[in-house]
Amino acid sequence: MKLTDFRHDMELCNRCSMCKFIPLDQIKGLEYSGVCPSVARYNFHSHCGGGRLNMALALIDNRAGYTSEMLNTVYRCQMCSACDVLCKLGNEIEVFQTIQQMRVKCAEDGQLIASHKSTIKGLLKEGNMVGGKRINRGHWAADLDIKNIFKDKAVVYFHAGCRCCYDEGLWSVARGAVKLLQRGGVDIGIAGAEESCCRGRAYELGYQNGLGKSAGDFINRLQSAGVGTIVTTCAECYYTFKVVYKSLGIKSDLEVLHVSEYLDRLIKERKIKLSQKVPLVVTYHDPCNLGRKAESWKDWKGRKVMEIDKPILHEPPKQFRMGIKGVYAPPRNILNNIPGLKFVEMKRIKEYAWCCGAGGGVETAYPDYAKWTALDRIKEASSVGAEAIVTACPGCQKIFKDSQKGSKNTLEVFDLVTLIERAI
Ligand code: SF4
Ligand code: SF4
Repeated sequence: MKLTDFRHDMELCNRCSMCKFIPLDQIKGLEYSGVCPSVARYNFHSHCGGGRLNMALALIDNRAGYTSEMLNTVYRCQMCSACDVLCKLGNEIEVFQTIQQMRVKCAEDGQLIASHKSTIKGLLKEGNMVGGKRINRGHWAADLDIKNIFKDKAVVYFHAGCRCCYDEGLWSVARGAVKLLQRGGVDIGIAGAEESCCRGRAYELGYQNGLGKSAGDFINRLQSAGVGTIVTTCAECYYTFKVVYKSLGIKSDLEVLHVSEYLDRLIKERKIKLSQKVPLVVTYHDPCNLGRKAESWKDWKGRKVMEIDKPILHEPPKQFRMGIKGVYAPPRNILNNIPGLKFVEMKRIKEYAWCCGAGGGVETAYPDYAKWTALDRIKEASSVGAEAIVTACPGCQKIFKDSQKGSKNTLEVFDLVTLIERAI
């Protein structure tokens, strides 16, 4: 699908602004009613989902061209997809796919901004999106007793992801996940220095040159090595393996699981026992990539039948992605099973969760805005009486911790894996 395939979606936007807020019947006040960080921060319609549809229409009709402000508007989007699920409560519009395709057009027209060009350059040269050296990719697991899937056979492949491989502050999450899975009796292996970026970030930046081929080659290697399941702690990698690869046409029989799904399964089977008290009041942050974006979609091709005063008919019928089939229950099941722990919910949860701030390349291109977004979430967590915010993605954990530097907020930040380790 390309940007022009979404012309009708762009034309359907009626500027109702529903894509800016959680559902009206859930709003308790102005605070924490917004769902789009971009329009909340920049306070101008072009920065919401609907505004981006209007901009995309102007672009394909040649009524607007590339300017630095236009490109800032494109890239100040966290690609969190909240606008998409909110719009679909009242409209049949593919907001998120249109925003994604607008980025593809910008990249194809050579309009990537400087920081994103540098991310892509690093990916092509060193196989990661965080500026590390390829040769150092496996250092996080140097002294772990673990198989290498390309040398020793293993049923489950643990994919650490670029952040956990190169950020020493996050090594404990990947190492902890591996140890927990081994404790649960899982036959697990890693790829060490041969692990490669899932390409999810490049896809979100709109860069698609050779993406399907390199991703497909890695999947084929995994399948040839006898792997049956991919497990990851990174929500972005999870979304990429599970949803993006399908939309890129990569066929595989591999099961894709987030570590929270696998650990929830092992806890239910009593292969891992949560026996130690963790006396904390915690809340849970749904990573966008593990939540609403984790619901797969199929490219729909067909005919829209439109008659005056009648709803639009899709032939064949179209299934719309509402974001309700994300990984919402497993992390909550685990937290509710930790002895001594009290779990409280925030106001914006599940498919209406507020983004952590690190999505869509915003963290590298607009770091202040990314931290502003994260701080809003941290304040929300504190407002419901939580002593700690737990998440299930190293990217969210990092931006939450980084944003707290210099702020008075002392809320603790945990990855789910770390909390489980405490509970055993
Ligand atoms: S994807 Fe997120 S940040 Fe971008 S327009 Fe939609 S709600 Fe706003
Ligand atoms: S994108 Fe949807 S929710 Fe947003 S203004 Fe347009 S029609 Fe309304």
